[in-house]
Amino acid sequence: MPIATLRQVLGEAKRKKYAVGGFNANNMEQVQAIMLAAQKTKSPVILQATEGALKYTNFVYIKHLMLAALEENPALPIVLHLDHGESFETVKKAIGLGFSSVMIDASHKSFGRNVKLTKKVVGYAHRFGVSVEAELGTLGGIEEHVRGKVKLTDPKQAVEFVNRTGIDALAVAIGTSHGAYKFKRKPRLALGIVKEIAKGGSIPLVMHGSSSIPLKLRQQINRCGGRMPNAKGVPISSIRKAIKYGISKVNVDSDSRMVITATVRKVFKKYPGKFDPREYLGPAREEMAKLIASKMRAFGTAGRAKDYRVISLKEAKKRYY
Ligand SMILES: [Zn+2]
Repeated sequence: MPIATLRQVLGEAKRKKYAVGGFNANNMEQVQAIMLAAQKTKSPVILQATEGALKYTNFVYIKHLMLAALEENPALPIVLHLDHGESFETVKKAIGLGFSSVMIDASHKSFGRNVKLTKKVVGYAHRFGVSVEAELGTLGGIEEHVRGKVKLTDPKQAVEFVNRTGIDALAVAIGTSHGAYKFKRKPRLALGIVKEIAKGGSIPLVMHGSSSIPLKLRQQINRCGGRMPNAKGVPISSIRKAIKYGISKVNVDSDSRMVITATVRKVFKKYPGKFDPREYLGPAREEMAKLIASKMRAFGTAGRAKDYRVISLKEAKKRYY
């Protein structure tokens, strides 16, 4: 199967009322864990890397790790997605690396500037058949360079934004938050916003900052010498509700980081003599795969890989023009 576009994968998800996880990766074990989960649950998958991940891996390493995922899994729809691209230059670079989808995040700029930059990115990306995700409104919390004050998405403005930019997916701010230290208590998501935008158009919607920050993992980290303060994430039940209301992509990063840290710490605590990276990164990879598989099942993605044939970027390009 060729590399899949976000547009096709989310179009399918939206029609059948499930969501596809956007799972972040920074190294080989994370890419493998995500792919193991997709194989096990027979799910389409969005492998995503932030600008930070591109820099950390000197661009070329993450590119080939992702290409390895494609080569190893010809039967699965796989989207290679740039998460939170900050500038036109980064988007160009990601497309040059072979990504089939990019996010341009100009959500911290004024509405007019957000429209202008996003439109420019769409004009460029669609020439290659590459899909574009953009964001309107701002999330709280911290995700690498992304620091935000919360500003929920205005549904009316969202419809205008989509019409003026021609994007393929819209990230909405509905009260979720980036990072591991999200909320003091269970968050209340503004699902009315999702409902209203979903009602008004066919654009697939994306939820960022949607890790659940499992208590079990935090306790394990702290039991094994870590010091993570108390925090709540977005419960799976809330995510499932949001999917019912019209969310088609759910971004998860912090939970993967936590499960890796919790596992590595546990191995070190139990076996202080171990020093072969395979002996702690191997179990970490296994645990992350289990966690991602459980999310794929919860989001309704499991079993969906066989539902459709992936169209090529060339074919996707023809559909835009
Ligand atoms: Zn995000």
